[in-house]
Amino acid sequence: MASTYWERAQAVIPGGVNSPVRSFANVGIDPVFIGKAEGAYLYDVEGKRYIDYITSWGALLFGHGYRPVAEAVTAQLQSGVSYGLATPQEVDFAERLTAAVPSLEMVRLVNSGTEATMSALRLARGYTGRPKILKFSGCYHGHSNELLVAAGSGALTFGVPQSAGVTEATAQDTLVCPYNDVQAVAEAFAKYGRDIAAVIVEPVAANMGLVLPKEGFLEGLRRLTREYGALLIFDEVITGFRLAYGGAQEYYGMIPDLTCLGKIIGGGFPVAAYGGRREIMQYVSPSGPVYQAGTLSGNPVAVAAGTAVLKQLQDSEVYRRLAALGEAFRDGLRRIFSKAGIPVQVTGVGSLTGLFFADDAVDCFERIPPANQHLYRRLFGLLYEEGILFPPSSFETIFISAAHSMADIGRTLDAMEKIFKRW
Ligand SMILES: *Cc1c(COP(=O)(O)O)cnc(C)c1O
Repeated sequence: MASTYWERAQAVIPGGVNSPVRSFANVGIDPVFIGKAEGAYLYDVEGKRYIDYITSWGALLFGHGYRPVAEAVTAQLQSGVSYGLATPQEVDFAERLTAAVPSLEMVRLVNSGTEATMSALRLARGYTGRPKILKFSGCYHGHSNELLVAAGSGALTFGVPQSAGVTEATAQDTLVCPYNDVQAVAEAFAKYGRDIAAVIVEPVAANMGLVLPKEGFLEGLRRLTREYGALLIFDEVITGFRLAYGGAQEYYGMIPDLTCLGKIIGGGFPVAAYGGRREIMQYVSPSGPVYQAGTLSGNPVAVAAGTAVLKQLQDSEVYRRLAALGEAFRDGLRRIFSKAGIPVQVTGVGSLTGLFFADDAVDCFERIPPANQHLYRRLFGLLYEEGILFPPSSFETIFISAAHSMADIGRTLDAMEKIFKRW
């Protein structure tokens, strides 16, 4: 059955999927077609069950079929699905976001993380009147042209297009530095400082596997951006409402100028947001000169889902629970790898976990050994046979949701132990 869907899909959808990583091309397996999902589990169209560590790429903090979301959405459906006009619900939602996230005084709702980062960068350029931005290799901020840029050869060159269709001219306005390298950022500012509108960073890098910020890295970015009058943008599309209710900025005690949110805040629906200091946000149209709009922005059904999630997160023990699950998972993994004598670096914070087949600690994209990819691919396939679904790429993060139980973690560790006994 799945193989027929796969054949049909490839005939009518490029690569058979609506987002590349779903094709499982990185792990050399035909993609799974999902029939339904509940809690921590996915079921494919043939009814096989998987423990899900993708959780819609981190969007589902409470797992699949979360009742408060389903109820809120069902209730909103009775009153209409979209008005294209202002609603009380979006005001309430914006108040919740600004109350939760330390740097947010004002916020604008959009439909995807890509839109949030793209709009935040336009705003940073409009506000500062400067053309260039600085990003880090291995950080993903969505698929807008200026962010699909890789490091050029050699230190301190301009970026090069990472995708066909991105022009050299666009790439030249994006500077790329290695993650965790404050010195490289200082050199970039020394050379181009007055042209740099913003530094955009994932405060925990969760799109090259999982790489934590070293002590002093985020602080260094804060100091340099202030010194040169550039804006600091935290892309918290993954970390927002995940590391803490106030995101990575609460967790690390940092105040960026602008923040991008997505994934969790939509409860599985397309909601994202960007926001920050009032004085900057007032540059956004219609109050200011930076244009940005959206037919479905603040869609009432999607906002109902997001609001249901934020309500549940506000006074809950969920962060303690997620951290306990994450710690147990990582402790178990480290024990298994050390017993098997296999050099694997296990990284993580709270519900985010990464593993690198590497002898030494990985603190930036450049330090990921090339062999990591095929070793991860082999692990993915063996886990998949056991009904455990890790992300189908070594550059993604393993997500635990509040629907996972210690028993799910235990089953996963048992499967890993079995796999690494015969590795
Ligand atoms: C997923 C992601 C995005 C892009 O969000 P989309 O909703 O997929 O456009 C941006 N930044 C980060 C850090 C992400 O993980």
